[in-house]
Amino acid sequence: MSFDELSAASLGGETLTRQQCRLVLGCPDEDILTLLDAAWRVRRRHFGARVHIQVLSNAKSGLCPEDCRYCSQSSVSKANIHCYPMISAEELLVGATAAKSAGAKRFCMAISGSAPSEAELDQLCRGLGQIKADAPGLSLCGSLGFLSEDQARRLKAAGLDRVNHNVNTSQRYYGQICTTHSYQDRLDTIANCQAAGLEICSGGIVGQGESDEDVIDMLLALREIGPQAVPVNFLVPIAGTPFENRGRQLNPRKCLKVLCLARLLLPTAEIRASAGREHHIRSLQPLALYAADSIFVSGYLTTGGQSAEVALDMIGDLGFEIVRE
Ligand code: SF4
Repeated sequence: MSFDELSAASLGGETLTRQQCRLVLGCPDEDILTLLDAAWRVRRRHFGARVHIQVLSNAKSGLCPEDCRYCSQSSVSKANIHCYPMISAEELLVGATAAKSAGAKRFCMAISGSAPSEAELDQLCRGLGQIKADAPGLSLCGSLGFLSEDQARRLKAAGLDRVNHNVNTSQRYYGQICTTHSYQDRLDTIANCQAAGLEICSGGIVGQGESDEDVIDMLLALREIGPQAVPVNFLVPIAGTPFENRGRQLNPRKCLKVLCLARLLLPTAEIRASAGREHHIRSLQPLALYAADSIFVSGYLTTGGQSAEVALDMIGDLGFEIVRE
């Protein structure tokens, strides 16, 4: 089986077999350009040379009661981060306007915590309305924790376009990364948001100590869910978190192979090279855009990242096209 055949299968709508997925993740390093070419053919068919850039705003930081071991905002994290309550609707608007000026197509708001309180939901809905009125054309995404179908419907009516809710890893490995909620809890929120008519952004984090089989399971599960966007994060080992020493299984080539598998399994989804791309993909970041069609600029929830200026230069150097609203 050649990588050419895998790209033909993906373009033909077939699901790669588990054995084919293993071939992708186990690709010899010297064959990585051939693998990237296979992913590129699929990416080019569905997204051309377009790159979607997004800016993330941490609208509420820290003090989360959940124990996600990778997260600097969790109850088991001793990371030195800035904690603050939910920002105002006006501050959300300032962030959205800045994101639009930086060329972002979509503005992503994240709040820490298991789920938004009623007061937070009201505040969010007010902010969404203001952004829709004052920054038209900007697509709005929220990473808001667990949501009921009613809450999802309220957010949709207020102007939210998309919800980010990651599955994070395989069902089998989930208990190793978090014990205060289950994988099924995450699937339930995704289903509630889909029922409310919201687009779904759902992906995961690699480098948490999982096996290749877990990565394959996670991506096959995402194919079943059918999200519009799939963020592929690479664990940022934040000092003070239980996973501060994880992530060593990653190197730039491994990260590229995971992105290629995501593209081949989810050919029509936006594949986003997300948190950790700077730390783990390093000098090979331009190559990631032959599989992924989307990146964050200007940092992540509690860690810095590539500036918009440097990211735009990288995209320009590739001859790719930046998607603006
Ligand atoms: S990932 Fe979200 S739910 Fe988990 S600890 Fe961090 S803020 Fe809380």
